[in-house]
Amino acid sequence: MAGVLDDAEVGRVLAITAHPDDVDFGAAGTIARWTDAGIEVTYCVVTDGDAGGYDEDFPRAEVPALRRAEQVAAATCVGVHDVRFLGYPDGRVEATLELRRDLARVIRQVRPDRLLCPSPDRNYAATGVSHPDHRAVGSAALDAVYPDARNPFAFPELRDREGLAAWKVREVWISGSPSPTHVVDVTGTFGRKIAALRAHVSQTGQMSDLEERIRTRLTRAAGTAGLPEGRLAESFQVLETP
Ligand SMILES: [Zn+2]
Repeated sequence: MAGVLDDAEVGRVLAITAHPDDVDFGAAGTIARWTDAGIEVTYCVVTDGDAGGYDEDFPRAEVPALRRAEQVAAATCVGVHDVRFLGYPDGRVEATLELRRDLARVIRQVRPDRLLCPSPDRNYAATGVSHPDHRAVGSAALDAVYPDARNPFAFPELRDREGLAAWKVREVWISGSPSPTHVVDVTGTFGRKIAALRAHVSQTGQMSDLEERIRTRLTRAAGTAGLPEGRLAESFQVLETP
C-alpha cells in the first residue's frame, strides 16, 4: 500500500503503549510478523497497569511487578525481548512535557525507523480503545516523534547530560484509530497473539471467550479491508513522518 515503508527497509520498531496488554490486544499479530522478518522490536510501556485486574483479594502493592512480568512473558510469545517501563501511575496519565521528554529519550535511545502508538483521538465506535491514558500517551508520543526527538534543541538535557543525539522516526503506526488506513493480515500469527494475550493472566484469565472475541474483531477488520473470507487482520492509521 502506498505510503507504508517496506518491512525490508525497517531495522527497528518502537511500540509505545499506556498499559501492559495494550500492544497485545492491538498489534501482537503484526509484531510477530515484524520479528519474523528480522525487525528488532522494543516495547515502552508508560504505566504498570496498577489499576487493572479483577481480583480484589490480590495485594494491590504487588500488581505492578505482576503486570510487568506478564508483559515481558507476552512479549516473548511474539519475539520481543526488550521491554521498558516508565512507571507512570495507571489511570492518571496526561500528555505532559515530562512524558514527552521521557518518550523522546526512549526514541533517541532505540532509534526506531517505525513507531507504534495509541490514537490520541477518541474512537466513538470503540469505548475501551479510547481509554484516557491511551489518548494521552498517543498525543505525547506523536509530539515526541515531532518535534521533540528530532529537534536537537528540544529538551537540551537529553543531549547535553545524557549524550542522546536527535533522531527522526520515519513512520508512525497508530493503533485504535477511528480512521485506519492500513491492515496487516495476521492469520498466520493469530495463535501467537492469543498466547501473548493469555500471558496477561491477571487480565484475561477469566475470559473464556477471549479467542472468539478477538477472532470476531479481526475477521471484521479483514472483511472491511476486502481480504478474502477466513482471513484475520489488525488495522492501523499509518503516517509518514519525514
Ligand atoms: Zn490500555
